[in-house]
Amino acid sequence: MFRRQRDQERQDRVVVIGLGRFGTSTARTLASLGYEVLGIDIDERPVTEASDFVTLAAQGDGTDEELLRSLHVEESDVGIVAQGENLAASVLATMVLKQIGVPWVISKAANKLHGDVLTRIGADRVIFPEADAGIRLGHSLAVRTINDYITLTPTAGLAKMHAPQHFIGRSLADLYNTPDLALSVLLIRRKDQLITAPSYTEQIEADDEIVVAGTDAAINRFSTIGQHPKGS
Ligand code: ATP
Repeated sequence: MFRRQRDQERQDRVVVIGLGRFGTSTARTLASLGYEVLGIDIDERPVTEASDFVTLAAQGDGTDEELLRSLHVEESDVGIVAQGENLAASVLATMVLKQIGVPWVISKAANKLHGDVLTRIGADRVIFPEADAGIRLGHSLAVRTINDYITLTPTAGLAKMHAPQHFIGRSLADLYNTPDLALSVLLIRRKDQLITAPSYTEQIEADDEIVVAGTDAAINRFSTIGQHPKGS
């Protein structure tokens, strides 16, 4: 089922090795986005569960080259090694995917050393989901309206926030009118509409989501512009 002639129309194929919490959620998301997804796990239970939403779910050892070839994994556009606890299995699966010719391999690392090893043996991208989630949460705690955050430097980033109540009806010019505010509003999501590089005259509406780039201190200050002091 996973093997089809390569053609211009076909969706990208992704193999996900290890259907734990991270692998399952990645595979589910990719399938819902229209990718052809092959999920592999050494245990039966996650394979049975994933078979409801992936293109093909197979039980087996993701480090076994013969098994991967029998599933035509070499025809995948992307390989994701989503199990990170067992270092040997993660390294071997990454090596085998590169060896059989998967052009883009993303591997999950449990820590920095593990990540360094994965990079050395050829992983094209190494991810640290647990550490990244902790960093995002840490940065976002100061501003309660932030619901996502990408680190740019240790003290600056991109933040996605729900427009605070006190922003509604105000223009960006009004919000920017704060001395030394090292911050830019990059886009506003208004229901299904994306307003990229919004103009200064754009007024914030209820339920808008705003993406800003700036220092953490500026993001924090920005979120409180126009807020009435407590008790007033
Ligand atoms: P998560 O946090 O996403 O749940 P994890 O990084 O803690 O995962 P594990 O729990 O060790 O990693 O494994 C994730 C999944 O990978 C499990 O379902 C496990 O059965 C599967 N797995 C472990 N080793 C292999 C292997 N060699 N081949 C295929 N699947 C494997």
